Amino acid sequence: MRILRKHLSAFCSLTTAAALTASMAFGQAVPIQEPSSEEDIRNALTGGVPGGRWKEGLMFDGISPQPWLKSAANWLPNMELVQPEEMRITFMGTAPMIRPGQMNTSIYVELGNGDNFVFDIGEGAISNYIAAGVALNQINKIFITHLHVDHFGSLPYVWMFRTWAGGWHDRLRIFGPSGRTEEYGTARMVEGMKMMTGWHQDAFSVFPVGSGWDIEVNEFDFRDNGGVIYDENGVTVTHWQRSHAKDGATGYRLDWNDMCFVWTGDGRPSKLDVKYAKGCDVYVTELQQEVVEINSGVQGVPPFLARYTIDTHHTPAYASGYLANEIQPRLFMTTHMSYDPYVAEETVAEVREHWQGPFHFGAPDGIVVNVTKDQIWVREGILPDFPNSRAPQFDFTNGQLVVPHPPTSREEIQEPFVREQQIDPDLYYPKGYKPELLEHWPVETDLVAPVEALPPNLQKSMGAAWRHREANRKILDDK
Ligand SMILES: [Zn+2]
Ligand SMILES: [Zn+2]
Repeated sequence: MRILRKHLSAFCSLTTAAALTASMAFGQAVPIQEPSSEEDIRNALTGGVPGGRWKEGLMFDGISPQPWLKSAANWLPNMELVQPEEMRITFMGTAPMIRPGQMNTSIYVELGNGDNFVFDIGEGAISNYIAAGVALNQINKIFITHLHVDHFGSLPYVWMFRTWAGGWHDRLRIFGPSGRTEEYGTARMVEGMKMMTGWHQDAFSVFPVGSGWDIEVNEFDFRDNGGVIYDENGVTVTHWQRSHAKDGATGYRLDWNDMCFVWTGDGRPSKLDVKYAKGCDVYVTELQQEVVEINSGVQGVPPFLARYTIDTHHTPAYASGYLANEIQPRLFMTTHMSYDPYVAEETVAEVREHWQGPFHFGAPDGIVVNVTKDQIWVREGILPDFPNSRAPQFDFTNGQLVVPHPPTSREEIQEPFVREQQIDPDLYYPKGYKPELLEHWPVETDLVAPVEALPPNLQKSMGAAWRHREANRKILDDK
């Protein structure tokens, strides 16, 4: 106690009342002193940083965190808005062998103009979209590289539940290759999905549907290398063939705002990859490490099966580095790979045989890449195991929320007998509590509600993506 008092008196004699007030919030005020010499300050603040810029070790020019990032290490859902000039890439599924930390392949690309694109939508990947704070009805453009199930397995779920969750005002747009014959094309897969989900679709028709069940299938000729299959809002997507054992495997390139993203999908290294991905900003391909014998022990894949699968279907890690060196991207990434400590260094060493530039794994799930014209930064995304779903997102340009009338009712799709067997609610609700049951859709026609009539929390949550898009587009238009 005595020591404390002594300190305090010495301290007060050196400090002005103003400085004391200003620094009280931090617990301890620092007395004002003579500034160090300019030379000392310069040596301390820039010493050990060559040129005074962020470039150390083997880091590269332009690989640095953008100033608006709230954390340079981690990305959390709803933490940052995509900036007007930015492209943000999130790895939502990263492996062919599905397991809790790695869902099947899917890459989400968001652009500053408010558009978003889904490249592949493998089994389980949709759970990561939800964890990342993407509303299901925000997903409406899906590009499928090929029809292996690990690249489109989430599609039936997305189609059914995005409609239920507010996907009432636009159709689902699916882009994918033709096959050698009609039966192997994307359109036929979609027909099969419609058949598979027949019961589900009719069952969910007791809910609002609108145009949610409509699917626009854009099946393109898989041989049309370099063909443009999407050209809207300044965004183009081109495609080319990949050698993946069977005809109808495709690579995609998205160009917007002088920036470019490539996802090759699966396939053997090819001259076509070099031709169509050349000079792209972010080049993402798949890879397999040359460790089939060790893999057989760890992953349980017999070596002959692994070796044969790689050599007929996939890109060896050495080849991925070779391709990157030919393509010369600003950042090279690999995904569709097992993310395990025992292969991490091996993978880097194999890639580095030919590629000395910026490289990062597009794995495990949740890796986030912020891309602008002069900076790229990669972070670990923290995706919660028990996230909330984002509210459905609506375009409120017309100042209205429109809820289409459900196409059908229980009475039309269910025989009365089983409804009559339902327990009388008076028997299970406790005395004094009985909700007003909503057993019939509450309105006779489409519900059209002015936005102002919605409770404030719904106005805020359901219009958030629209407001963000409008603000960004205004900034881009003003330029
Ligand atoms: Zn695959
Ligand atoms: Zn495949």
